[in-house]
Amino acid sequence: MPERSDLPVTTRTTHRRLREQGSTSRRDLDDILRSGVICHLGVMVDGDPMVLPTAYGVAGQVVYLHGSVASRSLVAAPQATICVTVTHVDGLVLARSVFEHAVNYRSAMIYGTPRLVTDPAEKLAGLRALAEHIVPGQWDYARQPNKKELAATTLLALSLAEASVKIRTGPPDDGDSPDADLPVWAGVLPLAAAWQSPEPDPVLPASIPLPPHITALANRPVR
Ligand SMILES: Cc1cc2nc3c(=O)[nH]c(=O)nc-3n(C[C@H](O)[C@H](O)[C@H](O)COP(=O)(O)OP(=O)(O)OC[C@H]3O[C@@H](n4cnc5c(N)ncnc54)[C@H](O)[C@@H]3O)c2cc1C
Repeated sequence: MPERSDLPVTTRTTHRRLREQGSTSRRDLDDILRSGVICHLGVMVDGDPMVLPTAYGVAGQVVYLHGSVASRSLVAAPQATICVTVTHVDGLVLARSVFEHAVNYRSAMIYGTPRLVTDPAEKLAGLRALAEHIVPGQWDYARQPNKKELAATTLLALSLAEASVKIRTGPPDDGDSPDADLPVWAGVLPLAAAWQSPEPDPVLPASIPLPPHITALANRPVR
């Protein structure tokens, strides 16, 4: 019996290949979105597919994307279905055979037609979600957007109503195959993203200290 919090499965989000890696857990989706730094926006623009790396923020049931009002991808996005992905590479899975090599990962795909946000209060809230997504505390610390900057910014809201998750963990799949007898090292080479030490702007006055909310991230894993 699926839990109430499980992701609804649609025709589009039905896992077909490697379906054992599929997850319908809303918690898995939230974890992947929370720990991602950027997403990829897949959108048709003038008849051609474009997949653009871009920042995002999450608030409740919505992913926010933003950019210049001149951005072709953001102008095109509300006209049709788009697909947004967030991917984490957790390790290389090195098998005995090249065929069985794989990647340990967590990934999410979200389908939908995004909504252009015009309400001023939601626009500020969405931009706040974007700023806070990567560096919690930065929205209140830095200068917030003025009228001119808000007018130059497009904000799109994409519902999380149609989303899928896939996760691979564990060792290579050929440990119980005839290839297991080969004298080939097999296993996982883990990969972990981490923030490094902050590098102050060379023109930053020395009197300005590093704020605690940035110190809190420095030299920590991206999680
Ligand atoms: C870092 C990384 C590397 C990968 N490398 C390879 C590779 O080299 N070769 C390969 O075949 N596959 C690879 N995959 C898996 C790949 O993303 C697809 O899941 C797989 O190839 C099935 O593709 P398909 O076109 O048959 O999709 P289908 O199984 O037809 O997809 C059906 C639906 O399942 C969901 N879905 C599919 N894939 C994902 C996903 N990754 N995350 C969330 N939802 C998903 C979507 O809702 C999609 O509409 C990789 C995944 C990641 C994250």
